[in-house]
Amino acid sequence: MHCPFCAADDTKVIDSRLVADGGQVRRRRECLSCGERFTTFETAELVMPRIVKSDGSREPFDDAKLRAGMLRALEKRPVSMEDLEAAITRIGHRLRASGERELPAREVGELVMEELRLLDDVAYVRFASVYRSFQDISDFRAEVDRLEQAGRKPADP
Ligand SMILES: [Zn+2]
Repeated sequence: MHCPFCAADDTKVIDSRLVADGGQVRRRRECLSCGERFTTFETAELVMPRIVKSDGSREPFDDAKLRAGMLRALEKRPVSMEDLEAAITRIGHRLRASGERELPAREVGELVMEELRLLDDVAYVRFASVYRSFQDISDFRAEVDRLEQAGRKPADP
């Protein structure tokens, strides 16, 4: 990284160690131009990104809202709450692991659809029909046909 004193390009790491119970790397660096020394800390970026809605407004990720939407799609379907919670946890994990500060709501919707497809085809089509707001009945029909052709192999892309 650049030297914060003289802005030279090359600095060299002279010491590197784990701190904060291994949650952080502390690096001692030296500038090859001016000889100044400084310290950097590196941590994993695991912040939940803010969600950018289609109208451009931002809102915090809300897992209660996510759960409610998924439950609506799963109404009267043979899926346990345990499996639903595991899916919600995976979605939250993937959002955090993205490292992004902001994500379009559409991408969250795609993750939800992926998870619903693994849980239950009917719930998936229900959610997708609302989420993708199929333009007309033929779009919807095409999606159902695609699912029927794919059979019950939910792991296929
Ligand atoms: Zn320097």
